[in-house]
Amino acid sequence: GQCIMACPVGALYEKENIKETWEAIADKDKVVIVQTAPAIRVALGEEFKMPVGARVTGKMVAALKMLGFDKVFDTDFAADLTIMEEGTEFLSRLESKENLPIFTSCCPGWVKFAEHNYPEILNNLSTCKSPSEMEGALIKSYFAKKMDINPKNIVNVSIMPCIAKKFEGQRDELSTDKIQDVDIVLTTRELASMIKEAGIDFKNLEDEAFDNPFGEGSGAAAIFGVTGGVAEAALRTIFEIVSKEKLEKLEFESIRGLEGIKEAEINLPDERKIKAAVVHGLSNARKVVEEILENQKHYDFVEVMACPGGCITGGGQPLINPKEMEAAKVRETRLKGIYEEDEALIIRKSHENPDIIKIYDEFLEKPNSHISHKYLHTKYRPRDRY
Ligand code: SF4
Repeated sequence: GQCIMACPVGALYEKENIKETWEAIADKDKVVIVQTAPAIRVALGEEFKMPVGARVTGKMVAALKMLGFDKVFDTDFAADLTIMEEGTEFLSRLESKENLPIFTSCCPGWVKFAEHNYPEILNNLSTCKSPSEMEGALIKSYFAKKMDINPKNIVNVSIMPCIAKKFEGQRDELSTDKIQDVDIVLTTRELASMIKEAGIDFKNLEDEAFDNPFGEGSGAAAIFGVTGGVAEAALRTIFEIVSKEKLEKLEFESIRGLEGIKEAEINLPDERKIKAAVVHGLSNARKVVEEILENQKHYDFVEVMACPGGCITGGGQPLINPKEMEAAKVRETRLKGIYEEDEALIIRKSHENPDIIKIYDEFLEKPNSHISHKYLHTKYRPRDRY
């Protein structure tokens, strides 16, 4: 099926988690907090006979509140945080000329693939946890403290387009002080099943807004859901941090679209150049990694997403019915939805998100601080080849 094609690594771990989610919601001693990835909002509507790529952010939030979650947060918040942390990490590597190129680490399908196949590049992976794991860690620390909740009573549920995320959620490394950052991962399809089970008339729901303090994401975070999005989001911030100037054009056209391997060169005002590559699909990833290892290509920044098109067609997304629309067209249509989400937002750069500025002021101090390292960064280890 689609998930095996799209998610060769994660497919082994497909497991339904609906029952334990209902049980957590029913348990009066638990505070059950949900967060939703950027790619969900342009695909969930398809399960309710809405057009492919329709943006259903407000209805999705309303449905989650009706299902009984205590707080509904947006993973987009932590996508912005990832940009702050990864952008800073990248700039310091550029300075020291160590562990370049940096590879993005927000896709667990790719991370696991690298651990199995290319242990020699593990030091090049960004040490940033994926956005959902960062948000999970902050919910059980910063937020728990603010609200005076024992983190052991919090159940973090994340709605992901992805089956590999179910494995990621269980990794020992993705915990803080022995408390797992994310407890339950549900796919888009599982969420749709829960909404149907609860008899909610999804299509006719009134829009609702995410809860604070993790309810705000910039346009840069919204585009994490497509191939090229993380790199573009990072470049928007890196350029402005280094140049202290405003970017005139936010769209980096050369790394948009569905071509398998894309490249961009960005000139910084201090005459440094950043060479970026954007790759989706693991066979393309293999090709680019081999070229880098054989010194045929030189890059500073490489974004990798395991699924073709990125998370919009992740293994947990609504299944594509080729009789209604072919897969390539579905990808294009969902991609369009994601870029519309970016354009509809007033704040389109991660470092301008007021909630991000606030969490550094109140808790994290600055990107890559020792507190950030404790909660937001991780490590990797070689795994046996299959
Ligand atoms: Fe999961 Fe997205 Fe990676 Fe696919 S591209 S494995 S959906 S994180």
